[in-house]
Amino acid sequence: MHCPFCGAHDTKVIDSRLVAEGDQVRRRRECLACGDRFTTFETAELVLPRIIKQDGSRQPFDEEKLRAGMQRALEKRPVSVERLEESIAHIKHKLRASGEREVKALMVGELVMDELRKLDEIAYIRFASVYRRFQDLNEFREEIERLSREPARQ
Ligand SMILES: [Zn+2]
Repeated sequence: MHCPFCGAHDTKVIDSRLVAEGDQVRRRRECLACGDRFTTFETAELVLPRIIKQDGSRQPFDEEKLRAGMQRALEKRPVSVERLEESIAHIKHKLRASGEREVKALMVGELVMDELRKLDEIAYIRFASVYRRFQDLNEFREEIERLSREPARQ
């Protein structure tokens, strides 16, 4: 990384150790140009990315909103709360694992559809029909036909 004092591009690590019970790496660096030393801390980024809406605005990830949307799709379907919670955990895991600080709302929608499809096809269709706003009935019918051809992934 660049030296924070002189902006030189090359710094070298002169010491590296685990801190915070192994959750952090503390590195002592020295600038090759000015010789100044500084410390960096490295931690895994586990925060959820912010969501980029269609209009370009950014919002914090809202788990309650995600849950409400999925529950709406799953209304009166034979899917336990536990399985829904598992799906939400999968979605959050994928978002964290993406390592992105911001992701498009569209990407979250695709993740939700993947999960709903594994849970219940009716719920998937309900969600997809609202989410994708199928342009016309043919498109909707094609999607249903596609579903009946390929069995849901488990
Ligand atoms: Zn420097």
